[in-house]
Amino acid sequence: MSPPTRRSPRSRPSPEAAEPNGTFDAATRQQIDAVVAALHELYPDADCELAWETPLDLLIATILSAQSTDARVNQVTRDLFSRYRTASDYADADVAELEEEIRSTGFYRQKAKNLIGAGEILRDRFAGEVPRTIDELTEVPGAARKTANVVLGTAYGIPSGFVVDTHVKRLAHRLGLSAETRPEKIESDLMARIPRDEWIFAAHALIWHGRRVCHARRPQCGDCGLADHCPRNGL
Ligand code: SF4
Repeated sequence: MSPPTRRSPRSRPSPEAAEPNGTFDAATRQQIDAVVAALHELYPDADCELAWETPLDLLIATILSAQSTDARVNQVTRDLFSRYRTASDYADADVAELEEEIRSTGFYRQKAKNLIGAGEILRDRFAGEVPRTIDELTEVPGAARKTANVVLGTAYGIPSGFVVDTHVKRLAHRLGLSAETRPEKIESDLMARIPRDEWIFAAHALIWHGRRVCHARRPQCGDCGLADHCPRNGL
C-alpha cells in the first residue's frame, strides 16, 4: 500500500474549529466522486484483511471477527482452517473442542454455536456451498447483513450492498456521506450515493483509511489524502 499523500494546509478551519458536534455538512456529488477517486489512488490494493482461501473460510472468519480484530481472527483460523475444511466438518464439530479453538476471538460460546449452525444449514440446505444471495446468506446463524455483504463482495465479487462496520460508520459521518446512525440506514445512504461498481472497493478502502489515518480518537487530518474533500463532520 502506498502511504497516504501529505497535502498542503487547507484554507478551511482546523478540526477543532470546524462545525460543532451535532451539525452535518453533506458531501456534494463532486466531493463524493473526489473521495472515491482519492481512495483508488491511496489504496489501489484495498481488500479484506481476513485470511481465507474458500468462501466457507471467509464466512467463518467473518463470523469470528465480530467484536474481535482481523489479526486475532487470522491467528485463530491458521489452525482452524486446516482442521475444518467443509460445512460438514463444522456441523459435526465437538462444541467444547471448537469453543477452545476459537476462544481468543471472544464470545466463543455463541460463536461456536453459530459455526456449528452455519455448517448444518450449509450442509443441509445449500449442498455444502456458501450461497450467493443476501437473503440466503442471512439465514446462516451469525451472518447478519454486514457479514453477508463481506462474503458476497469479497469471495464472489457480488456487490450485494455496502459493508458498514465501525470504521465505515465513522467515516461516512465525517466525510458527509451519511447523517444516519443506524447501520442499515447508513448502508442505504452509501448505496444511493456511491456508484454500485465501487461498493466493494470503497468499503474496503474506507476500512483501511479508518484503520490507518482516520482513527476514532485522533484522526490524522493533517496527513490525510481525503482532507481536501472532507467536511470533517463531528470534529
Ligand atoms: S482524517 Fe480528517 S480529513 Fe481525513 S477523512 Fe478523517 S476526518 Fe476527514
